[in-house]
Parts: sequence; C-alpha cells; structure tokens
Amino acid sequence: MRVLVVEDEVRLADALRRGLQEEGFVVDVAATGPAGLELARRGGYDAMILDVMLPGLSGYRVVRQLRAERNWLPVLILSAKDGEYDQADGLDCGADDYLTKPFSYVVLLARLRALLRRGAPQRPAVLTAGDLSLDPARRRVTRADAEVALTAREYALLEYLMRRAGEVVSKIELLDHVWDASVDTAPNAVEVYIGYLRRKVGRDRLETIRGAGYRLVP
Ligand code: CA
Repeated sequence: MRVLVVEDEVRLADALRRGLQEEGFVVDVAATGPAGLELARRGGYDAMILDVMLPGLSGYRVVRQLRAERNWLPVLILSAKDGEYDQADGLDCGADDYLTKPFSYVVLLARLRALLRRGAPQRPAVLTAGDLSLDPARRRVTRADAEVALTAREYALLEYLMRRAGEVVSKIELLDHVWDASVDTAPNAVEVYIGYLRRKVGRDRLETIRGAGYRLVP
C-alpha cells in the first residue's frame, strides 16, 4: 500500500515515514500544499495523510481541489485545531476522516487501515483466498489455521496481491506499491520475493502470467 504524507513539520513527517514504513507501507512525503496536490494528481496512491496548516495551500484546499477534479483518493486530515467546527470543515471539504494533533500513532494506523478498507468497499476486514487468510489489523497471516511467519516485505507483497485477488498485477505495479522507489531495488526483486512467498503460502496460490505479471488465485 502506497501512502502520501503531506506534512511540513519535518520531525513529524520523518516519524510518520519511519513508522509507516515499519508497518510495510511505501511512503512518499511532500512538505507543501502544492507539492502534495501535484503528487496526489499523479496517482498511484492508496491513501493520503494530510496536514491542514501547510505552506502554499491549506490541506482543506488541497482536498477540495482533488474532489473538484473527481479524484477520490482516500484522505485522512491531520489538524492542530480541535473544535467541532474544524472537524466539520475537514469532512465537508471532502476528506474521509479527521484526526486532531497530538494524536496516538496506534489510532492513526487503525484509521488508516479503515480508510484503506473503505477505499475498496467490497473487501472485508480480513482477506481470504482458499485456506489463506490475512488480517491487516493484526498483521497476521494464516494458512489452514496455522500461522505463517512473513518478513515485512513479504507481508506487504502478499497484502497487495490479496487486495487484488483474481486480477493480474504487473511487476511495475508491485514495485510501485510494495517497494520504495527511492531505495535501490534489484530488478529481479519481485521474482525473488514471489519465490519466497510461494514457499510459505503454497505454490499454486500465486500464478505467473507470462509477460503480464502475477495473479493471486482467489
Ligand atoms: Ca503544518
């Protein structure tokens, strides 16, 4: 899952980036309203965490502009204000959820998870495919009721494929949503990790579609 963080407080932005990366998210950070808007317009994100008080363009105006352009990227607003009118402003401008600073990191993660679920409305909270089950809230994967131990990268790859179960997902798309483009990634990283996953979740669960990508069998 690729998340865009728009936050001008450098320390908070760094903390969010590190925390989310540890959870297996791919994270891009923008420090101004216009830079955030530009990245969101380019697409490829599964959610955006957006500060209100930003240089150049407020968070509210960024969401308003995106919605006016019929861009429905799920948005979680972060704000230092805490009046009920401010919350209403945040939601009225088209944001999906609202969190007041200072916030609990655990709550932020839970809200983000809920947002990602809503972004794909037909998908249940726990993803399943055959005897395989993945619970994003607990970051727990089981196969035939036995726990499967995965590294953070393996988990992120499996979660992305399970959210797209039945669809062919290209290598480029996997690199984009599971690997951080700013980090050097070996060209065969996807194949290597698909190999690791196959050993853990079953060879038949992950099909290679020659010349197109991979498909998780639902
Ligand atoms: Ca700010």
